[in-house]
Amino acid sequence: MVQIANNKLFMGISPKELMEATYNASGNFQIRAFFEAKDEILKAEKYSEEEFYEILDAMIDAETERKLVLEKLRGNEPLFLEEISKIVKEFPPDNVIRDIIYLKEQGYIEEQIEIKTKTVIKKIKGEEKEVEEKEYFYRYQVKDIPDDFIEYFFEPVSLVFESEVCCQCGWCSSVCPVNAIAVTADTLEIDDKICMKCGLCYSVCPRSFSIEQALLSINKLDKSLKFSEKINGYINTYSASTTSDKIKKVRQDGGVVTSLLEYLLKNKLVDAVVAVQHSKDFWKPEPVIVEDVKDLYKTGGTKYANATTLNIIDKTKKFKNIAVVGVPCMMNALEKGTLFPSGLPFFKNIKYRIGLFCMESFPYENVLKLIKEQFDKDYTKITKMDISGGKFIVYLDSGEDLRVPLNDVKSYARHNCHFCEDLTCDCADISVGSIGSPSGWSSVITRTKKGDKLFKDAIKSKLIESQSLKDVKPGQPLLERIAGTKRKNCKPIILEKKND
Ligand SMILES: Cc1cc2nc3c(=O)[nH]c(=O)nc-3n(C[C@H](O)[C@H](O)[C@H](O)COP(=O)(O)OP(=O)(O)OC[C@H]3O[C@@H](n4cnc5c(N)ncnc54)[C@H](O)[C@@H]3O)c2cc1C
Ligand code: SF4
Ligand code: SF4
Ligand code: SF4
Repeated sequence: MVQIANNKLFMGISPKELMEATYNASGNFQIRAFFEAKDEILKAEKYSEEEFYEILDAMIDAETERKLVLEKLRGNEPLFLEEISKIVKEFPPDNVIRDIIYLKEQGYIEEQIEIKTKTVIKKIKGEEKEVEEKEYFYRYQVKDIPDDFIEYFFEPVSLVFESEVCCQCGWCSSVCPVNAIAVTADTLEIDDKICMKCGLCYSVCPRSFSIEQALLSINKLDKSLKFSEKINGYINTYSASTTSDKIKKVRQDGGVVTSLLEYLLKNKLVDAVVAVQHSKDFWKPEPVIVEDVKDLYKTGGTKYANATTLNIIDKTKKFKNIAVVGVPCMMNALEKGTLFPSGLPFFKNIKYRIGLFCMESFPYENVLKLIKEQFDKDYTKITKMDISGGKFIVYLDSGEDLRVPLNDVKSYARHNCHFCEDLTCDCADISVGSIGSPSGWSSVITRTKKGDKLFKDAIKSKLIESQSLKDVKPGQPLLERIAGTKRKNCKPIILEKKND
C-alpha cells in the first residue's frame, strides 16, 4: 500500500491529496466486498492469507491511483490516451492509460468517438481503385459528476454469459476467490449463494469491457516496437519450422509451438505448460498441465473445438514458472488480469504466453456435425483438420484429403467468435499461425523482448529453423490483410441483463 511518511511530495502528489485519494478508494464497493469476505476467501483455499493481502493491496493501490488520475484530469478538454499519459506525469504512462479505461467503466470518464472518412488507393483484382476508409479517433474527458453520484460497480460475469458474448475461456473461474464460477466449453454458472460481488471476474474478463484502445496506445508508447493497425505492436516477424522429427509427426503447421514448449521445459525456464490435448472424446479438446516433454507431443496439432484452457490455471499454483498456450481471447484475458487490478496479483507464475492465430472456433457438437454433413465421414477416421487457402480440409487415415470452401463451414462456428477482433494474438509474447507461410511452416510474431529472446534461443539451439516473414510468399501482406478484415467485421459487444 502507498505509504505517507512525511510532508514531502510523493511523485509530485501532496500527502493531503494522497490521503484523500486513499480515503475515497477505501469506499469502493468492490474493495469492501473483497475485504469483508476474507474468511470465506480463506475457507475456499484458492488464495493463501498472504495472497489475499497481495490482491487487496493491488486493488487499493490501483483504486487510489485512479482517484488521483481523475483529480489531475478534471477540467481538461477531450484528449487522446497518449496525450493524457503525458499530462499526468505522476504515474507510468501505461498505468495512466489503463486507469482511464477503468474510470470510464466506473462512470467518471466519457469516451468520445470521432469518425473520419479518408480515400485510399487499393489494388482490387489487379486494378488500382480509390476506396473510402473510415478512421476512428477516441478521446476521453472527465464527466460533470453530480454530488450524489455513485460510481458503477461491476456485476459478476453472468452478465457477459447472458449477453451471449462469453468466449468460454475459463479465466473468471480460475480467478474467482470463492470458487463461485463453473465454466465449460458452452456453459457458465455462478453460485449466487457464495458470490460476494467483488467484481474481480468482471474486471479480468476479456468480454466485459474492451482494452483494445489501451493496448494500442500502450504499444505506440513503446518506441522499440514496430506497429501495424492490423497486427498491433511487434518486434519481429518470421516464418519458421521445427527440426525435430518427433514434433513433425504431431504438428499442425511448423511445429513451432511444440518446439518452443519443449525448449522451455528442457531448459527449465518453466516447470509446466498449460496446453490442450484430445480428450477421451476424440477431437474434443481437453486442457492439460504438462510437466514432461514426452507428454507434450500429445498436445501437438489443432483441435478446432473451443477449449476452456484458463479454467485450469488455478491448478498450476504449485509450479513456480509456467507457460500458457492459447487463442487470442485467452491471451487477452491474461493481459486484462495484469492490467486490472494491477500487475497480475493472482497467478504470478505465468511467465510465457504462446499465442495461436485464430479466425474462429467451433462448438464440439458442430465439429462432429460439420464432418458428417460436409464430408459424410466418420470423425474417428480423421487424422488432421486444417484451414488453409480458403478451404476447410480433413485428412483421413487412408492418406486421402477432402476439402470444402471455408464459407461453407462458417455457419458451424461459435456465435461468440463474431465479437472477436484479434486474429494474431495481440497479447502474447509470441504469436504463431499458418497464414502467410508455406505449408509445413508457421508464421511467427514476436511481441515482447522475452518472447523474441525465447524464439532466438530456440533457433540457436537448432530446434527451430527460421527466415524473415518478409522473405516468404504470401508473407506478411496476406497476414495483415486477413487480420484487418477480422477487425473490420468484428461485431460490437453489448451487455444486456436478461429479464428474470
Ligand atoms: C481454434 C483454432 C483456430 C485457429 N485458426 C487459425 C486461423 O484461422 N489461421 C491461422 O493461421 N492459424 C489458426 N490457428 C493456429 C494454427 O492452427 C496452429 O495452431 C498454429 O499455426 C501453430 O502451429 P504449430 O504447428 O506451431 O503448432 P503445434 O506444434 O502443432 O502445437 C499446437 C498447439 O495448439 C494447442 N491447441 C490445439 N488446439 C487448441 C484449442 N482448441 N485451443 C487452444 N489451444 C489449442 C495445443 O495445446 C498445442 O500446444 C488456429 C488454432 C486454433 C486452436
Ligand atoms: S463470481 Fe465474480 S463477483 Fe462473485 S465472488 Fe467470484 S469473482 Fe467475485
Ligand atoms: S472470463 Fe472468459 S469464461 Fe469468464 S465470462 Fe469472461 S469470457 Fe466468459
Ligand atoms: S475467434 Fe476469438 S473468441 Fe473465437 S476462439 Fe478464436 S480467439 Fe477465441
